[in-house]
Amino acid sequence: MLTFSIEKTDTPTDAKKRAEWLANPVFGRIFTDHMAIIRYSEGKGWHDAKITARKPLSIDPASTVLHYGQEIFEGMKAYRGADGHIKSFRPEANAERFAASARRMGMAVLPEDLFVQAVDELVRIDQDWVPSGEGQSLYLRPFMISNEVFLGVKPSTEYLFIVIGCPVGAYFGSGAVSVWVSEFFTRAAIGGTGEAKCGGNYAGSLVAQAEAKEKGCDQVLFLDARERRYVEEMGGMNIMFVRNDGKIVTPPLGGTILRGITRNSIIRLAADNGIEVLEEPVDIEEVFSGAASGKYTEAFACGTAAVLSPIGKLRRPSGEAVFGNGEPGPIAIKLKKILTDVQSGRAPDKHSWLHDIV
Ligand SMILES: *Cc1c(COP(=O)(O)O)cnc(C)c1O
Repeated sequence: MLTFSIEKTDTPTDAKKRAEWLANPVFGRIFTDHMAIIRYSEGKGWHDAKITARKPLSIDPASTVLHYGQEIFEGMKAYRGADGHIKSFRPEANAERFAASARRMGMAVLPEDLFVQAVDELVRIDQDWVPSGEGQSLYLRPFMISNEVFLGVKPSTEYLFIVIGCPVGAYFGSGAVSVWVSEFFTRAAIGGTGEAKCGGNYAGSLVAQAEAKEKGCDQVLFLDARERRYVEEMGGMNIMFVRNDGKIVTPPLGGTILRGITRNSIIRLAADNGIEVLEEPVDIEEVFSGAASGKYTEAFACGTAAVLSPIGKLRRPSGEAVFGNGEPGPIAIKLKKILTDVQSGRAPDKHSWLHDIV
């Protein structure tokens, strides 16, 4: 634990303005008044923890992150619970994954309790920014950049860890999304960085995401890099399919897929509700023929930002796979309700996933 020095902003957002924003937040465009920041230097370790006004960073043009991209991040949410307390959901899982991402990228590892503490400190000072509407929350973005002033290629000796927050509503609309299957671009290979939550993975996925948009789809689905045959995941969400035997199937974690906390939570809540989830390779040909034959009845994406998004159809150059009638399916709707009920405190928190902040 470190003690955070608290430097409150001199220019807090006007309460009326904030209320207007909170009534209808747009994802990722409006930010709270403060940020948490901790510095790391080799020899000195983690130091200078503070809460300060959210403001632009001053970075040297030779700062390593600008050249070699040592950057990792997390995405998590704080909710205003039914009991009036503000809580985050499984923050220790984000802290653990953040440490794993840092190790993979050769970066300094932030102690997991310090990660949770930094997020809590920010939420505490900006608690008026946590919206209370249905489906609304404060999205939190902890991230770390390398910050040594040096053009040599090696792991940096200096890092900045920062947490910012933005109020959010529903990520996608309420309908089902359409997904483009990327048959050329891949996201991750064995031995690569697919399991790390690093900015570079996103940089490499954006051209495929742009291709998806051009093909009239909302999102992109990546296949394995070796055979381009097995389903991996979307650009920023894991994927699951529902079969007509009532079971769910999702690609196994094997180093190339991000270990989604939503994915893990859904697997456990499905089990609690008598739905079996198989973590098995999913052949894209089987998905297309299974959607046509009725063997694959639903598909959905899962991740913190969107929680759970039903997928109406997959599209690729040779045709489309439509699940059910292309509308959100009953299992996806049911699991979304089960998960969001736990997150909002409407259902009992049997797994002790909620972490009280204020
Ligand atoms: C963050 C992320 C996910 C979802 O993880 P959650 O912990 O559920 O938010 C899935 N895939 C990728 C590539 C991601 O970056």
